[in-house]
Amino acid sequence: MLQTTYTEASYEQPVNAETNVDLQHVPASNVTYKLRPTANWVQKPYEKRNFWERLATLDLASDKCYVVQPQNTNPPPNLNVWRERLWLIVMIAPALIIQALWYYIIPENSFFHTWHPIVAFIFYHLAFFTFIIRLVKHITYYMDVYGTFDEYKRPRDYVPDKYVYRLILSILIYTLARTGGGLILGGYNRYSPPSLGHTISWAFPIKIGIWLITLDFFFYFYHRAVHTFPFLWKYHSKHHSTKHPTPLQSILADDLQEIIEIFLIPLAASLVMPLLVHEFWIAQCILAYVEAMGHSGTRVYWTHPLIGEILRPFGMELTVEDHDLHHRYGKSGKNYGKQTRIFDRIFNTISERIEGVEK
Ligand SMILES: [Zn+2]
Ligand SMILES: [Zn+2]
Repeated sequence: MLQTTYTEASYEQPVNAETNVDLQHVPASNVTYKLRPTANWVQKPYEKRNFWERLATLDLASDKCYVVQPQNTNPPPNLNVWRERLWLIVMIAPALIIQALWYYIIPENSFFHTWHPIVAFIFYHLAFFTFIIRLVKHITYYMDVYGTFDEYKRPRDYVPDKYVYRLILSILIYTLARTGGGLILGGYNRYSPPSLGHTISWAFPIKIGIWLITLDFFFYFYHRAVHTFPFLWKYHSKHHSTKHPTPLQSILADDLQEIIEIFLIPLAASLVMPLLVHEFWIAQCILAYVEAMGHSGTRVYWTHPLIGEILRPFGMELTVEDHDLHHRYGKSGKNYGKQTRIFDRIFNTISERIEGVEK
């Protein structure tokens, strides 16, 4: 795997740097705002892009998201959270329904009645990959409709040329590990198809909510540590190669970071709040949804669909602007949580919102 370390210094080149800089989308009046690494691949017509670049094309929002926009002084509108919950149900439920129907339709005495763990792994991996593609399309649509935070200073970043391959590799590692991890940690049993009250408890929204908060607890300390200690920052800096990310760049990370974030932190959360196997499927989709949402910069009040409203009275709910500000701060930190602001509020590492303040 690639071991390139992306340093803050290489991102923040001086204005007169001669190479490796894409000036095309940086307005002349605003060059002091930092220059960006090269993203020549987006200038090529689709037919001329290589296999990895074509896959990365999935992450491209509309052209206006990459060009500085006039300042919008209105507060961001509220995104209808019930519409988002409905979208999640429509996207998450089919995989469960298909497996349940299979077990219902294929006779019990048939060799094909049950799904071997490898079959379940392939099926749920394809389902998760499909979910991610639909998710990115869903979010980039909102980016186009609502615009993005900070767009009057600087638009979104393209994936740099040198990270296109790494991004696709990261996505594959992410979807494979999360699918496999969910089946293992949930204790997949080929004789137990998806069923409410059996492989999905009736209290699953509460269980998943607690699991996500627990996960955020472990993530907070891990994330704060990698920003604090230089020898750990070098593993996290690749994720911070963008200050204005896009949904799929939420997955761009170094090898060590991937192992910790994709497997170890969910494992730790599962030791505190164990989930059943099909609850894991639901949880990992919600987790991916919030991670992608948080990296979109969509200029809208958009909070966690499961626990956002519960945390809002305490000022602990995560919205898109919070993680967007985390990327703008870079190494200096703030807003370390990625599902909530509970621990940022408790440990005083919260950053006040700039555009998303209620008026
Ligand atoms: Zn970070
Ligand atoms: Zn991030």
